[in-house]
Amino acid sequence: MIHDIEVLKAKTSKISEIDFNNLKFGHVFSDHMLECDFKNGEWEAPKVVPYQPITLDPSAKIFHYGQSVFEGMKAYKDADGKVWLFRPLDNFKRLNISSKRLAIPELPENYFMDGLKALLKVDEDWIPEKEGSSLYIRPFVFASGNGFHASPADEYKFIICTAPSGAYFSGEVKVLIEEKYSRSANGGVGFAKAGGNYAGQFYPTQLAVEKGYQQVIWTDDTSHEYIEEAGAMNIFVRIDDTLVTAPTSDRILDGITRKSIIELAKSENIPVEVRKLSVKEVVEAAQNGSLKEMFGAGTAAVISPISGFGYKDNDYELPKLTDDSYASFLKKRITDIQTNKVEDPFGWRMEVK
Ligand SMILES: *Cc1c(COP(=O)(O)O)cnc(C)c1O
Repeated sequence: MIHDIEVLKAKTSKISEIDFNNLKFGHVFSDHMLECDFKNGEWEAPKVVPYQPITLDPSAKIFHYGQSVFEGMKAYKDADGKVWLFRPLDNFKRLNISSKRLAIPELPENYFMDGLKALLKVDEDWIPEKEGSSLYIRPFVFASGNGFHASPADEYKFIICTAPSGAYFSGEVKVLIEEKYSRSANGGVGFAKAGGNYAGQFYPTQLAVEKGYQQVIWTDDTSHEYIEEAGAMNIFVRIDDTLVTAPTSDRILDGITRKSIIELAKSENIPVEVRKLSVKEVVEAAQNGSLKEMFGAGTAAVISPISGFGYKDNDYELPKLTDDSYASFLKKRITDIQTNKVEDPFGWRMEVK
């Protein structure tokens, strides 16, 4: 049920300018956005408004103290034109978990869910139908209240923008196992989807790119001996026939793709181990041939296979991807469920009516 969401329609639509057959990822934005303000100690009713620039005071605390969190999710249109979301309540809950850690007021569930559905209704034509394409959805919350005092702001904005997007092709991904920098630490904000976590990743990633890699594999901040995440994705390693991923913690983001892969793999009788995974074990597996696959998992790319990794001046190659690869199999299983091509025994899909 969608109720009470005011809609202010854009006077003209940009949709005729968009080539839906050649969409990049997150590059063009739909006609509308959802906007919601926190003022005087409460969230005001969300509104659908035309996609437009926002005006902020230069002393807005987002610029100075980085109170900013976000989510990433997708809407899909099936062959019958029905619109689907994938585990959207998990994104809502995680947004509030992130907000809480950054002292940002939490959102009511109906503002997020009803607001999102109202936005998708208004911009329904922006949801691509083409295989592999989807409407990428970016909910975010940030401190719009101003002042140089280093304390939480008294005003915030919650916005949802959407971007019709083609499949996220990362190409061949060679990764570098990080031995110096960390993206997160115990007691820190690594488990939150905080904008600042990304800012801190860019420089070490640039250094890896200069060395000929595309991404960094983050290791634990104390010893750099345990594998934690792949860039801004969770990581899976297949050793022989077992899929291994690190347990979530203060330092690791609890990815919805990650937990879906774990459940799917279990239901397909693929052995899955959620445990600490040392760099040493992965290097040894690469040397003795038992390392079969490594891949990143996240909403944008779903599964992003890794072709090789660098560690301490050595490079290790992974076997070429085949049709039997877990990466290909699991990606197809997830996307088939997301796009309503197969049964969804897990109850993950939600139709937007
Ligand atoms: C968003 C994100 C992921 C993936 O989460 P999904 O819910 O699967 O999209 C993994 N790691 C980090 C650091 C992230 O920011």
